[in-house]
Order: sequence, then structure tokens, then C-alpha cells
Amino acid sequence: MFGYGQNNFTWNGTLRELEGSHPATERVRPAMTASSSSSSGLEVLLSTLQNAGDVESTLNILNVLDELLSAGTDRRIHYMISKGGSEALLTALVNTGRSFSPNYTLLLPLLHLLAKVGQRDRRIGMKAEEAGAVLLTLNLLRQNVQHASRAAACLWVIQVFCSSVSTANLIGENNGLETIYRLIPPYTTKHLYTIKAAIDAFAALLCTKANVCSVVSKGNISGLLRLYEDWHSKGTQHVAIEIRHALLRCLHKVTHSTAGKHAFVSHGGIKLLYETTQTCLLSKSLESLLEPSVQLMRKCLPKTPLPLTSDQSAYTFPLPGRPHAIPDMDAEADESGEASDDEEAEDNQQADYDEDLETDLNKLRLRPDPDRPKELLPQYSRLCPELSHDFQELDLSSEPEDCSTASSFSSEEEAVLRNSFHFGSSRRDRRRSNASSDLSTSGSHSETEPEGHTAADAQLEARDFHSHSSILSTSPSFRTIVREARGEAPPSHRGDEQDDDEEDAEESHHRTMIDRLLERHGACIPHHEPRMYCAAATKTKSIPGFSILAFPDFWGHLPPPGNEPMAPRKPNIQRKKVLEDVQRFLNTDDIINQEVFDLEDSSLQCPSDSLRFFSKFECGNLRKAFHVRRYEYDLILNADANCNQHTQWFYFEVSNMVADVPYRFNVINCEKSNSQFNYGMQPVLYSVREALEGRPHWVRTGTEICYFRNQFCPAQGTRRTTFYTLTFTITFKHNEDVCYLAYHYPYTYSALKAHLKLLQKSVDPAKVFFQQQVLCGTLAGNPCPLVTITACPASRSCRDMHQLRNRPCIILTCRVHPGESNASWVMKGTLEFLCSSDPVAQSLREAFVFKLIPILNPDGVINGTNRCDLNSEDLNRQWSKPDPVLSPTIYHSKGFLYYLKSIGRTPLVFCDYHGHSRKKNVFLYGCSVKETLWQSGSAVNTVGLKEDPGYRTIPKTLDSLAPAFSFNSCNYLVENSRSATARVVVWREIGVLRSYTMESTHNGCDQGIYKGLQTGTREHQEMGMKFCHSLLSLTKDMSALYSPNLISRIDLDHKSHNCFEDDEPPCVEQIEYSTDCPALKGTDLDSEVNSNMVSADEEEDCDEGNKGTKHRRGSVGQSQQSMKSRIFPHLMKQASTEKINTCNSVNINGQIMS
Ligand SMILES: [Zn+2]
Repeated sequence: MFGYGQNNFTWNGTLRELEGSHPATERVRPAMTASSSSSSGLEVLLSTLQNAGDVESTLNILNVLDELLSAGTDRRIHYMISKGGSEALLTALVNTGRSFSPNYTLLLPLLHLLAKVGQRDRRIGMKAEEAGAVLLTLNLLRQNVQHASRAAACLWVIQVFCSSVSTANLIGENNGLETIYRLIPPYTTKHLYTIKAAIDAFAALLCTKANVCSVVSKGNISGLLRLYEDWHSKGTQHVAIEIRHALLRCLHKVTHSTAGKHAFVSHGGIKLLYETTQTCLLSKSLESLLEPSVQLMRKCLPKTPLPLTSDQSAYTFPLPGRPHAIPDMDAEADESGEASDDEEAEDNQQADYDEDLETDLNKLRLRPDPDRPKELLPQYSRLCPELSHDFQELDLSSEPEDCSTASSFSSEEEAVLRNSFHFGSSRRDRRRSNASSDLSTSGSHSETEPEGHTAADAQLEARDFHSHSSILSTSPSFRTIVREARGEAPPSHRGDEQDDDEEDAEESHHRTMIDRLLERHGACIPHHEPRMYCAAATKTKSIPGFSILAFPDFWGHLPPPGNEPMAPRKPNIQRKKVLEDVQRFLNTDDIINQEVFDLEDSSLQCPSDSLRFFSKFECGNLRKAFHVRRYEYDLILNADANCNQHTQWFYFEVSNMVADVPYRFNVINCEKSNSQFNYGMQPVLYSVREALEGRPHWVRTGTEICYFRNQFCPAQGTRRTTFYTLTFTITFKHNEDVCYLAYHYPYTYSALKAHLKLLQKSVDPAKVFFQQQVLCGTLAGNPCPLVTITACPASRSCRDMHQLRNRPCIILTCRVHPGESNASWVMKGTLEFLCSSDPVAQSLREAFVFKLIPILNPDGVINGTNRCDLNSEDLNRQWSKPDPVLSPTIYHSKGFLYYLKSIGRTPLVFCDYHGHSRKKNVFLYGCSVKETLWQSGSAVNTVGLKEDPGYRTIPKTLDSLAPAFSFNSCNYLVENSRSATARVVVWREIGVLRSYTMESTHNGCDQGIYKGLQTGTREHQEMGMKFCHSLLSLTKDMSALYSPNLISRIDLDHKSHNCFEDDEPPCVEQIEYSTDCPALKGTDLDSEVNSNMVSADEEEDCDEGNKGTKHRRGSVGQSQQSMKSRIFPHLMKQASTEKINTCNSVNINGQIMS
């Protein structure tokens, strides 16, 4: 409570009253209870206010209201609004303001109060229109343009009214923009509050398209820029900075439109802001202007189409049944195009999240009918070989039968293995074009266009997708390094023409060297065998017909010793990068802008001093590279095959570098609105030279990492208006190295095939039943492996065989999203653990039958897509009704699950391994009816709803077992948007209680012993092992593990549950960079209004001449105490206790004295 009222009022009762349902009201003011049930003191005050009593009474009421509202929280104001406070003030304003010579003694406090209340009333604009107060206020403003404090009061109210678009338009239509714009002068020291109020009101009016258009067409943008320049060059004190902030706010608003942006750029806005920013960088006091300036420049950099002829992926694949159908993604995505013109739409996923929850109890509980007839299920019996296997070999202890007939080596592979490693067969193809392009030519040989495929082709077992008489090679850059590793001088200087004989000789040297190197280092990587990898890769079918191996996949990777902490984010790194980008626009002198790599044009020449890029290998994804400035490259990723979007994953080779020079790389067509790259995540790098020196590690690398929205747009179409830049800087350790850079640790389909073969060879077939089968063929004709792992029965006795056949199934799937390579490393950990001799693994094998589908999307993985299959569909949205031809792996996975259910073997656990790009840690999503209903705030009474809480067992166990796992990040909600994901469909349709998505971060952990560290493959593999450990918790429930009725018990278990589940939620971290100028806070306006109350008093006493100096004594936002104490001093003098006590029948308690 402030100032004058202290001696005269006892307002406590009313203060509480204003709080509405304050529980203390009755206690404190017993007198109130009798009369207040229908009409509170506040309502009486408000009603009196509207009835236009005498000036003094009205002033008293305003006074009282202002005091009450100032002393309390916003809650009080909202209560007042709910009681019609805004309407009362508006009516009073109209009544007072309509008069030919309005009484400003009354009007000013009225306007001030209206500004304070109105900014908290979302409907104030509409209410003002209804009351006829909008144009009235505008007229008052026009009458008072020479009267600073009155004008300021009108401007604040106009600003507040503009929370409604229609009100802002109404003011705009009545030339309000011009009126207000004229109140913004060049630099001055006078009437700063009023000037700022004018700019703020002007900014508020720019909330509508019509007003922005009007401002653009009148050339006000140029004017605003000149004003900004003037205030920048002359005004250094705090108030001038506030005014510059307000001007920037106007510019931000006006550049929401394309026309506004154009005007801003064409009037030199970027240059002006860049220059003023340079000054701001030098002065601490001006620092607050940097962020809005930089964001404004970033936003206004002219839209630049990506330098592509088409946004469609370079990889297209004829789909069965629609030979030429490349889905037109544009048409579909255009629906959201309009909104995106207005830019910077925030990621509202979080806000909408709860609305996405399934609240229909029937949908949550009822199982839909199967999506296919029963007759189609028996075909899957072949995928349960453990059920039909007779284990005769247990009797003939001599020579165990190879369990894995389905995956025995082909003669071709055996030949490859026998002949050891064998490089490149098509040297003559490779050495076309000349010289410096040895890299670019590497991808050109043995290419054949994909043949037309029919549905039959896609069935299985594949004929060769491209002619693979040749054996895979590595890139020429790699050869150079090998040659150098042998201490040989290059045959001549780099890129010189050689004749065939020389090359043949080189080839053979190369082979020998590789063999020698392999002998020395190749055996050190567990579960990896380069020759086996090579053999597996020759059979992998890709759209472009890969003939080059990426060295890391071939050679293998070991996790580096030691931890890899998250990269510290340098302060203001985004500002620095954006300023560099702006400089690129302003100063084109040092711009090179030369294309140095094109996935589709292997004849492209690149200069000798440029980095060289290559990505035409399995999982590779780089479409183009541009040399931008001396040590800076723009990179464009290839969209998912048959598609024009989903870019995120990258994997490419880079060579011809100079050591110890920081190279800046910009991936300029990223699509997600935020990324863990803003929170400590680094890309990974593999150096061939390091590998040859005994350090075959993918390592986290890169500095100055930053992810932000950029100015690029699609080459054609309007699918989305902007992309995001991932920028990072790499300083290479060696000259002329060959390095590989990737979004995350690559794991190829060929690696899986080689890995499975090694695992199969590693297990003791008398103990471990390991069988690899083909679930189905993919669209491109690659087999999708399904692995069965369980313990061989102890004997062929009835009892042991019975136990085997009654073991519950655990189904684990992975890599439905190709860009989530971390999931594959987790799966690798699971596979290796399950095949190990660890006693826990042995127990698990004896308790369960594991069915693993380690890559659900082989074609996507092979072709370097990020999200989709060749069908350009997200396969994890196909589970409801998977198409047998277009989504065969999902169709057959689901069919297999149906089959298991049909024979009474509904899986005990289903888990789909994923990677998460926007969160830290590892966590599970499961399905729970109750939790979904609670979270959604559904009215359904869940008290009587029975739900088996068993879905929580595994996450709880993991929380204590797995360091990377975070129980708090798990949830069990069933969202509508996830209704076609594996987790939800397997839970709902197959009836698996423990149906999960396991999400592993691409970045690292923010809890546990790995806190602050990025996860590497070691941690991923450990997670895969820990997941297996957690399954032990389920065996505890099964005391009668060997009991014949186990299955029926488990089935009961499943029937008792009602769960749901879902999939990938939005980013938890705030977008670190601001997307716009910060909005004005309510308290800012309050303090300005209060300041004006002071100056209003002064104005009464002062002439125009010295007003300005008095205004200056309080800067914006200055302490309110002294100002408040001086409000309405004349009233203080006059108002006697009696008068106030009795005026308009309101007593000191605000009680009605009827
Ligand atoms: Zn995923």
C-alpha cells in the first residue's frame, strides 16, 4: 500500500475481497457475509464508476482501484476483469472522453488504469470496440499530440487495444498508423516516454497483415531504419537504448511479411544493422541490442533457394505397381505453407501434447480385429525353428549340425574369403576424366541404373540389383594414403595421368598393403572381420549400386579410450556464426562459391586446393558440397529416397585437407527445429591415418557447433520456407588424410550381416540355438534378417523339450528409422550379450526365446535415408495396416506377431529400439490406459479400472541397472499421433503388456555416472546388454519357470492388462536462440504508466519549456515508490476521511451501505 492512502483507509478487508474466493474473507470481515453474496464491494465500485458521478468521486474510485491493483498480484487484476472491470473503465472512458472539452484530470488516471488492466485482458480489444472506445482514444490522441503525457496515456491504451487483430485493423483503417508514426521523431532528449509509447503502439499495430502492408507501402520501413540510425549515432543513454529496442521491435514485426523483408533489405537494413552491431559489440551498455539485431538480420537475409535442380532425392526407386510414381510431397505439405510465411513459428508440439492423448476408453481397451485372415498366419511357423528343431545333434555329440542353414555362406562369399581381400576390378572405368578428380571418379564405376522392379522382384532372395561381378573397392583418396603409409612417393604429383600398367601395379601393391595392414591391426576389433564385411557388402543392393566401401565400415571401429564430454557451448556462438553469415551476404569479395561435390555428377572437377568430398557408399549421405570461403564449406544432404525431405543423417568422406586449419562446415538443409547440437552434441569423425596407426576410432569432434534457422528455402515448390543450419568447425590432425564425418556412429546393413555371421560362428551350437532367417525381402530385394536365440535344451527328454517349447518370447526390433544408428549399436550390444557365455545370458536363454529383427528398414539404412523406406513412408507409422508390397518388413513382422499370438505364444516383451535426436539419456515409452487418462485430464473414472502395473517393471529395473537410463524420462501415454507405431499396435492389437519404444540419445546423459558425457558405442552396447539384464526381473515373477502351465499364466497376465503407448515426443529443451524480439512484459508497461503519472503531475505545473528536462530525470522502469506517492497530490490535500468514507455509499471497507 502506498502513499496518501495510508492514513485514511483501512483497505485490508477489500483487498481480500478482491482476491475473490479468499478463504480468510469471512473471518476477517464478518460484517461482509450478510450482504456480499450477490454483489461485492468491487462490483459496487465498478458500477459507480460507470454511472458518471461527480469528478471527485470518480477520481476517488480510480484512485482506490489503482491502489488496490498496484499493491496486489495479477490475480487481483484478473479478478477485477472477471467482474467487468474492463467494461466499467471503458464506459467511464467513453463517458468522459466524449465531452467537447474532456476533463483530463479524470481522463488521465482513467487511461492509465485502463492500460494496466487492459494489457491483462485478452479480450480488451473487442470490449473497446463494443464500447466505442477505440476511435475515441485515437481522437483523444490526435487532440493531444502537443501534450506529451496525455498523448502517452492514449498511446498505451491504443497499444493495449491492439491485442485484438480487428481492433488493430480498425485503428489502421482510420489512419492511426500515420498519426502515431508522426509522433516518432529523430533523436531528441524531450518527451522520451511519449516517444517510446508511440513506438510501442506502432509496433503493436503491426500485428496484422493489413497494417504491415500499409506501412510497407508507405515506405515507413526506410523511415524506421533512418530513425534507428539516428538514435544509434546520437543517443547513448539508457532511455535512448530503450527507444532503439522499441524501434527494433517495429522492424521485427514489419519483417514478418515477405514484403516487409524485401523492403528492409532493399533499404539497406542488413548493412545498417550489421554496422550498428559492430559498435554494440564494443560497448557493454549496448549489448542488449545485439541479440534482437542479430536475429533480425538472420531473419531478413534474402531467401536463397538451395542450389539444386530438384528437391527430390538423388535416389529414386520405381515402386511396385506405380512405375513412375514419385510421390508429390509438395502438394501435401503445402497446407502449412501459409503460416510459414509469417516465419519463426515456434514448435508448439509441447502445448498440443496433451490434446494428442487418446481418451476414448474403448479405443484404449478394445483390441481391433486382426488386419488379415487367419489363413495367412501359418506361413510364419517357419520363423519358430526352435519349436520344430529336433536337436538330434544333442545325441550325436560329435558333429553338431549347422543350425543356420538359411544363412550359410554362399559359395561366392566363401571364395571371397579364401582369396583374401581383393580390391577394385574396374580400374579402367575409374580412371576416366583427369587428374585432380581421382576422388570424384571413384564412384563412377560399375554403376548401373536400377532396373524396373515388379512386385515379384521385391519378394525375396534377390537377383543382383546391380551387376556385382566386381568386388568392392575403397576410394582413391584412401589408396593415396595407403601408398604413403608404405613410404612410397606418390607416383607423380597428385592427380597426374597414369597409364594402365602403373595403375595395375599400384592396385596390386595396394592389395598387398591392405592385407599386411589387416594382419597387423585387423584382428583387434571384436566381432569384426574386414574380409567378412567386404563379402557381405558385395551382396547388399543399393539404389545407386555402391561399389566403394567407406573405410571405417570395412576396417572397423573401436571406442576410443577415455570419456568424451559434451562440447562446452561458447557464449554467443550463434551470434558469431550469424554475423559471419551476414558478412557473407554483405561482403562478397572473399566468396568462392564453387561446387566441389555432386553426388549425381562424378565428373565434376574440383580445384587442387579444395577439400574433396565423397558419399557414394553404404549409408552415405551428402548430395552436394560448395566451397564457400577459403576454409568454409556448405553441405547439402540428400533427401530420403523417392522423397524431398527428412534430411538430418549425414555420412561422407572428406580428404585433401591441410592439418591444423579450422574448417567450417555448414549443413544447410537440416529440417528439425532444434537439435542436441545446441546442447553439447558433436558429430563423429574417423581418420584413416589414425586407424592405420592403430587408432581405429570414431571420435566426437568439432568446435563452434551451433544449430539455427537459416535463409535457405527449397529449390522449387513451397514445401517449407526455411531450413536450419548445422555448423561445426573441424581442425584436422593430419595433412592429406582421408576422414569420414557422420551425424552419429554409422552402422551399415552390411555390418549387421557380417556381424551375424561372426556371432553365429562364435556360439557353441551345443549350448546356444542361434539361427538367422529371412523375415522377408525388401522392396530393393535385400533380405531382412530375423534372428532366433535361445538355449539348446539340456537333453532331448520330454521335459527339456517341453520347457524349450514353452519359453516365453521376447521380441526386439530396431532401426526402423535409418538415421538412428545409435539404436543399431544398442542392438549390437544386445546380440553380443545374448550370444555370450555370461551366466546371466545363459539364464536368459534358458528362460526365453529371443526373436530379433535388428534392421527393420534395410533399404533405408543402405541408401542413407534418415527417416523413411524407399516407399517414402515412415515405417513406424505403418503398423496399423501395413501394405504387404510397399512395407513388407512391417507387414511380416506384424504377421509373425499375430502368428505367435495365434499359437498361444503372445510375446512377453516387445521392444523397438530407436534413437532420439532431441533428448538426453535412454528411456522407454510404454503403454498405460490409466496413465493416459490421468494425463489427459479425462473425465473417465479410473478407480474401477484394473490395469496390470507390470509395464513398469522393466523401466524400474533399468533405472537401477543401466547408467544411461533415466526413469524420469519414461512415459506410458498413448497418443493418437502414435497410434500406428510398433509400440501402440503391438500393445493394443497383439496384446503385449510390455510393449516399448526404447529411445537412446544421440547426445549424452544429464544424470547418473555419465552425466555431462556424450555416449559412445561402448555406452550404447552396454545399454543393449543392460536391457537384457532387466529381463531377469521378469523371471522372478515366474517361480514356476519350468512349469508346464507357464504359458497359460503368462497369457492371463496379458489379458489382465489394459495399456497404451506412444512414440517420440518433442524436444525438452527450450529453443536456445530467440526466434523473435522479446515481447513486452506487462510490468514494463506498468512502470512506464506509473512514470507518466509523475510527469502528468509535473505537466500541470510546468510550461512546455522545461517539461523535457523533468521527464528525463526518471529513466524508463525507474523505481516507482516516489512516483506513486505523488499521484494526485491535489486529491490528497482535499480528500478528508469523512468524504471518502461516505462517497457514493461506499464505506472504507468497500461495503455497500444500502
Ligand atoms: Zn525413431
